[in-house]
Amino acid sequence: MPHLELRNVEKKYSNDTEAVRGITFAAEKGEFIVMVGPSGCGKSTTLRMVAGLEEVTGGEIIINGKKVNDLHPKDRDIAMVFQNYALYPHLTVYENIAFPLSIRKTKKDVIETEVRKTADLLSLTKLLDRKPKELSGGERQRVALGRAIVRKPQVFLFDEPLSNLDAALRSEMRAELKDLQRRLGITMLYVTHDQTEAMTMGDRIAVLNKGQLEQFDTPANIYRRPATAFVGRFIGSPSMNMIAGSIDSDKVFVSGEFRIAIPQYLGMEKKDVVLGIRPESFSVGLTGSGHQVISGELVLVEPLGTMTNYYLSSPLSSTGSLVASVKGFDSIQNSNVGMKLSFEIEASDIHLFDSATGLRFV
Ligand code: ADP
Repeated sequence: MPHLELRNVEKKYSNDTEAVRGITFAAEKGEFIVMVGPSGCGKSTTLRMVAGLEEVTGGEIIINGKKVNDLHPKDRDIAMVFQNYALYPHLTVYENIAFPLSIRKTKKDVIETEVRKTADLLSLTKLLDRKPKELSGGERQRVALGRAIVRKPQVFLFDEPLSNLDAALRSEMRAELKDLQRRLGITMLYVTHDQTEAMTMGDRIAVLNKGQLEQFDTPANIYRRPATAFVGRFIGSPSMNMIAGSIDSDKVFVSGEFRIAIPQYLGMEKKDVVLGIRPESFSVGLTGSGHQVISGELVLVEPLGTMTNYYLSSPLSSTGSLVASVKGFDSIQNSNVGMKLSFEIEASDIHLFDSATGLRFV
């Protein structure tokens, strides 16, 4: 039985905004689910409906086998951790963790046992007498988690908890949070707009766009076989290159001079399609010929250390340029803007989407 299930969940606000249009997915016990998508796609609304902070206008939310649509937040057996952790600044770490038990009028000795057990689990025992301002960002996050854990909820909800942090701390906290979640075996629903967080932390990822679920799958499947052109572009950095064209009756993709045979294409009729190519799927050379080669002028080089991105001017792309990512620091030695370059691809590395619906073919 799934631990948390959303069945065709909808939200229409009183101003007629359809923020969420029928979302369905389920999390198993101990699974880390990330909801990701651009600003305004309905992530927070969905999370708030699960928490009970927002009324559901269609569909069902089921926690541990029980429909919770009409239950008060405090009766749903969930804990929500917000962006700023919302620790009480005047309380010590001990008192912050004890707080949810104190307000339930739990006995003092039970509180003592539970707080010490939780602190031990989160390596906070030595910090129990400190106030939040005397803690690092990571320690504060652990206190916020501890305060949620002592209540022993079924499901933990996180709303962009790392978005206020600088890049180095973020990456440290990603690893720490993922490790904690795994060790504690907790079921997590986590909202972010950051695809790196989604890919690195999620056991499965729900990609949302305009209130709809585009894909719900493992990070590997989302990356290797994006279900829609939107997912293809949203996950991966730099974004997937997109070339609009058509498939002819010989299963050849054609866009201007560029042609590539797509033997794996199973459709029969002539179709308008969008060809997707990941930047790392291009091989880059100084010269090249043939229909599968795209030549152009180098317009921008981004050396990132482990990778270098090369941007080639090309009318094939709607953005006016195509990007290739090559391992290493400027592997085309002394590349300079204005020089001629060629990008080449293999048919096995392409993605093909229907122009009209955005859905994947190949
Ligand atoms: P996200 O978290 O993905 O950025 P939200 O769930 O906050 O997106 O918002 C989804 C859509 O619903 C947006 O178009 C937003 O403007 C709208 N929306 C959010 N909250 C309200 C509200 N309280 N009343 C009316 N519309 C809202």
